[in-house]
Amino acid sequence: MRYAILADIHGNLTALKAVLDDIAKQDKVDEIWCLGDVVGYGPEPSECISLMKKLNAVCVAGNHDIGAIGQIDLNYFNPTAAEALEWTAEKLSPLDVRYLEELPKTVEKGDFLLVHGSPSSPLFEYVISTGSAERNFNFFHTRYCLVGHTHIPLAFRQEGRAITSRALLPVAGVALGEERVIINPGAVGQPRDGDPRASYGIYDSEDGFFRLYRVDYNIRATQDKMVQAGLPLTLVMRLETGK
Ligand code: ZN
Repeated sequence: MRYAILADIHGNLTALKAVLDDIAKQDKVDEIWCLGDVVGYGPEPSECISLMKKLNAVCVAGNHDIGAIGQIDLNYFNPTAAEALEWTAEKLSPLDVRYLEELPKTVEKGDFLLVHGSPSSPLFEYVISTGSAERNFNFFHTRYCLVGHTHIPLAFRQEGRAITSRALLPVAGVALGEERVIINPGAVGQPRDGDPRASYGIYDSEDGFFRLYRVDYNIRATQDKMVQAGLPLTLVMRLETGK
């Protein structure tokens, strides 16, 4: 079985479509897993929700997903994120709201736990250091865990007592074996590792490898839509730097 793993789409439909086109060019994928933040920041939240529904993606909730439907106070977010969420909330249909309301905080799929932030704090914690990874290995019982939220593709491996971290590049895959691993596939809609290309992963249960892919997309098209929508300019600009 082959699984496409997407995170942090953030209303960037152009990036999402480029990723789906890239997936379609490869061997067939059996299921799409989404690690939350379908909406927020980007100009086409409703369209991204519709596409995830159409694809029957297995999706968990992100902090922006619940922020957009008023389940957490917008004061929790920085001012530009909050401004984009207020804009997003106005664009959502009642069916979009229901979709976001019904997203679970975690999902288990075979050997994997799917979560947006971290196993110990599914909506809010960033697993960004070996320290946070080490602590979080105690909070899930599956062998592997997939996280989003940081928008940075990284793998943490538990080797005996040591935790190692590794930046994920498109060239080399991660062999998933006995050792426990936390993997972040990076962001589809707003990468922050300095590479502005959309990021996603594929896990192939036949060979046991997770592989990262980066995809060029028409960043300018998304930026134009954001400007037209009146979304904050800092959010528009960061798409081209990937930071
Ligand atoms: Zn996010």
